[in-house]
Amino acid sequence: MSVSIADALSAARDLASESARLDAELLMAEVLGQRREYLLTHPEAILSKEQLASYNSVLQRRASGEPIAYILGRKGFWDFELEVSPAVLIPRPETELIVEQVLELYGKRSNEPLTAVDLGTGSGALAIALARTNPAWRVIGVDNSRAAIEVAARNAKRLSASVHFSCSSWCESLLDHSCDLIVANPPYVRGDDEHLQRDGLPFEPSSALVAQEQGMADLRQIIVSAKRCLKTDCWLLLEHGYDQRQAVADQLQAAGYMDIHCQADYAGNDRMSRARWPGH
Ligand code: GLN
Repeated sequence: MSVSIADALSAARDLASESARLDAELLMAEVLGQRREYLLTHPEAILSKEQLASYNSVLQRRASGEPIAYILGRKGFWDFELEVSPAVLIPRPETELIVEQVLELYGKRSNEPLTAVDLGTGSGALAIALARTNPAWRVIGVDNSRAAIEVAARNAKRLSASVHFSCSSWCESLLDHSCDLIVANPPYVRGDDEHLQRDGLPFEPSSALVAQEQGMADLRQIIVSAKRCLKTDCWLLLEHGYDQRQAVADQLQAAGYMDIHCQADYAGNDRMSRARWPGH
């Protein structure tokens, strides 16, 4: 029996995801090694046995809830594309808010040799975005997962981003008063959050998602330890959960930070907070 591109795509309608058609097209394009436009212009093209088998296999993975980014092995972030694997969190669009805020705060200093650190770099998303937008900066990506650092280092190399990586825990490997900026998208989801069972999250590394103390443990540790590393009047920018604005602000204030400001993401959820370290 011969199956055309159009036949195979329409058979995918029962995918659980709302964007089933788009997913099917992305997977088909990947299997064929073509752009998505090709599917529209060649709906009658007949798939080889091998192509059909590969397509059915990736479609099956998608139907079982695996995120499309892991199946394709890549995800767009800022103005580039990152390799991703289950060793790293899939970068989310809301994390780009941190890059925007850095541009706002440090835009005029992009030619100075500042030191910027991305804690929990994962795929390298934030570190690479900072390095690409500020070529004069010394950017350090920190992660305590060796497997994540390997993915991040490959991404930085492929994207010609000059980033130094360190496999260590939060600020542990950073020198005192050495940082002009620290950003982090740490784990902040509560262990009992039912969201962890949905939207492909079971496929992502729980070490990048889940934190103790109602999701606050890593945020708290970063807030406390970043003080030692930040230079006077430099900024800490943190992504956090939609319901952690107050808890994060309380921790920042108790630790002595100033100018605490929370920013909502495009969905209107409180998503990141920034604070200035006034020095000791
Ligand atoms: N924003 C992610 C989610 O809720 C969580 C990312 C994180 O814990 N850093 O799906």
